[in-house]
Amino acid sequence: MSIYDTQHRRESPSARVGMAILRMSQAVKRLSLAEAEGEGLTPVQAQTLLFVRHTKSFLTSIGRLAAALSTTHVTAVGVADGLIRRGLLTKEPSPYDKRVTLLRLTPDGERICQNLDRFGHTLEKALGQVDEADLAALEQQLGALVWSLRAAGALQVAEPCRGCIHFRENAVPESAEPHHCQLIQRFLTEEDSRLDCPDHTPASSSDGVAYSNGHATD
Ligand code: SF4
Repeated sequence: MSIYDTQHRRESPSARVGMAILRMSQAVKRLSLAEAEGEGLTPVQAQTLLFVRHTKSFLTSIGRLAAALSTTHVTAVGVADGLIRRGLLTKEPSPYDKRVTLLRLTPDGERICQNLDRFGHTLEKALGQVDEADLAALEQQLGALVWSLRAAGALQVAEPCRGCIHFRENAVPESAEPHHCQLIQRFLTEEDSRLDCPDHTPASSSDGVAYSNGHATD
């Protein structure tokens, strides 16, 4: 049975919700395409710039970009090279491992990102019409769905450090890098701790729900 089958949808609440989510994803795709085009970019180029802007500075490698875009390494190299040619990205070797190249935004790339950060604004506006209690329930349920898709390997979810089981906040108070990640065994600045990391592992499933909905940077 397929969720495209109307008879099946009539009988199955999960098929109806699945179809609603599918339709929403089509709407989001159209909106993001329109916003990226406004900056003269394809959606994947816009996603790449936003990945570099919001990901921890030591994790902006091509390999991580490929995972974030759910694409191959070769395709990610092509996307990054196109943005480098346009003067929106640069590359530099990782200070931790010279074999790894990290992507950085140029000032022009930063400027475009500020405009792209309006991504989702129309969606937020539409959700603003929903009753507050219904919105809270939706947040909880969609958050749980996002994390179960992540657990199934269907989705990469990157989040900042707070709420991650590997995070030790203020391990060395008042130093330039006060926090510590036990996974990568590295000290972190406050700024890096607030940027996204695809290895974020929620301390509890309720953290996962909350963090997937953007509470991590609060
Ligand atoms: S694994 Fe967790 S603590 Fe370590 S950098 Fe990623 S989010 Fe932060």
